Amino acid sequence: MVIKEKACLNCRTIYLGDKCTNCGETPSSDSFKGRIHIFKSEKSEMAKNMGINSEGEFAIKSK
Ligand SMILES: [Zn+2]
Repeated sequence: MVIKEKACLNCRTIYLGDKCTNCGETPSSDSFKGRIHIFKSEKSEMAKNMGINSEGEFAIKSK
């Protein structure tokens, strides 16, 4: 069984399964580009630029 990773279109979290593990939304993309792992969002410029305020793996670009 292959489970494909998806990127949430709402918050850009990369997750496996039926719905986003971060915000619970279901709209997603499996054609995201790049990924970033945020450890400390409050200290990450990247997270700030992307509007991310939680830990986890996020897609840099999704469509
Ligand atoms: Zn989400």
